[in-house]
This record gives sequence, C-alpha cells and structure tokens, in this order.
Amino acid sequence: MRLTADDRALIAAATDAIRRAFVPEWHHVGAALRTRSGKVFSAVNLDTYVGSCAICAEACALGAAYAAGERGFEACVAVRWRGRGRPAVVAPCGRCREMLHDYGDPWVIHPTARGLAKTRASGLLPDAYLRPGERRGDPATARPTARRRAR
Ligand SMILES: [Zn+2]
Repeated sequence: MRLTADDRALIAAATDAIRRAFVPEWHHVGAALRTRSGKVFSAVNLDTYVGSCAICAEACALGAAYAAGERGFEACVAVRWRGRGRPAVVAPCGRCREMLHDYGDPWVIHPTARGLAKTRASGLLPDAYLRPGERRGDPATARPTARRRAR
C-alpha cells in the first residue's frame, strides 16, 4: 500500500523523536504511532545494560498512547539513526509485530526492496501467536484486547 501525507508526517515525527533523544548505544530508534483519532505519539527505544530489559521504541509509543486513553491505532513507524547520516525507516522486530498485532493490527510502514511500503502488522506476522483455543477474528475465543477491537 502506498504512503499518504499522514504517513510521511508520521515518519517525520519518529525522526524528530530520535534526533532529539539520540544517545550513542542507548537511544537510536524513534517510533511514532498514529491513532484512529489522528493523534501522534512518538517515543524512543530504551536500551539497558542488561540487554533483555531493553524496550523498543514502538512499545514505548504504544504505552504512551494507551496511557493517554487511546485505544484505536492506525499506523506505526520506526526510524533508526546513529547520530550521523540519514535516518532510515526500519521494520519492527518480531516482538513488536506481535505487540502491534495484539493492539489493533495497525498499518506498519517498513522498507522493502522497492522502497517504503505499509502493511498491516498481521501481514508481517502471518502465523502470530494465539493461546490454545483462540482463533484469529473469532470474538468468542479472542483475548480481551481483540474482543474490544471486534465491537
Ligand atoms: Zn521491537
């Protein structure tokens, strides 16, 4: 799917976030999340001395939006910047694909061999984790967050 002007603005918001917060080896990815209400929440990754405690920028943006009361998520993008050169849109890691899928399956802007594209999180994660007995798209068996989406 082609990017819109709102998608380009989302990339700019993620880029601004990491340019403001960049610290070598600590903060090098910015993310921006657009809600269905049109608000944009941006954040940066939180690296840690213990690698498994690090948190991706997408998760931080989602948490900020959720804490502000937002529940519908339209699109997300992450931008990596190393303090010099051009920032680059990066694809979400597998954990973030799962997380975004669980929180409304927004569009994800990501690089491809032909340039930037956007794909639903589920399109980047064709066989997402489901608990035993759950079926995708079945409100009767879905998790609470999925049930809210079905309304
Ligand atoms: Zn991630």
